[in-house]
Amino acid sequence: MMYFILSKKNAVLLCLLFGMGLFFGSFLVIRSYAGSGDKKEAVSVIIDAGHGLPDGGAVGTSGIIEQEINLKIAEKVREVLEAKGITVIMTRDTKNGLSTEKSRSLREMKIEDMKKRRAIMKKSNADLFISIHMNSFKNGSASGLRVFYSENFEDIKPLAESIQLRMADVTGAETAAVKTADKSLFLMKNPPLPSILVECGFLSNPEEEQKLTSGEYQSRLAWAIADAVEKYYALQKS
Ligand SMILES: [Zn+2]
Repeated sequence: MMYFILSKKNAVLLCLLFGMGLFFGSFLVIRSYAGSGDKKEAVSVIIDAGHGLPDGGAVGTSGIIEQEINLKIAEKVREVLEAKGITVIMTRDTKNGLSTEKSRSLREMKIEDMKKRRAIMKKSNADLFISIHMNSFKNGSASGLRVFYSENFEDIKPLAESIQLRMADVTGAETAAVKTADKSLFLMKNPPLPSILVECGFLSNPEEEQKLTSGEYQSRLAWAIADAVEKYYALQKS
């Protein structure tokens, strides 16, 4: 043990140095928390309501347009995710697609719309992209969920599977094997971030179409998607 005999002047100086050390030290701790927390703590997800006028997407047997249901479910997913503290970026939150009036043909508007969605994916720095769609098939008896993920981010497959599982749990809808997305889908071809496409059911199946237009059924689907996302990122952090 060592003893120091301090003069009054030295004691004041020492206190001052100690105080400064505490002040700058705590500042560094706060900074390092913020620095390391930025990426890991705040999960952000892009929710993409598929299509948007003038592109309505698939048309149901009763005449319901896919883009309407996509948007309703996407908004519900946003609501649940935000309540869980997850940041949500929507590619659209109106019935309209992202193309502007300057575009001439429907095809040109569709291309412009897709490029703008892709630009959101690139700029967002988000952790995940989820695209919400409704399915359609010439055989009216086809039904159930179809979930796809981007091949260039294979690690996301377990989340795609768990999304489908949760959705099936709360709706009783049929499931199929989760697959990599078809590369003809512009947004799913080498996307800049892990991406999942969810086909919530078949509008070509009258029975399923009726369910998909129900607000209560939409809420169940949305809750299931958000719940799987929350649990996946909570697990990654722990
Ligand atoms: Zn679609």
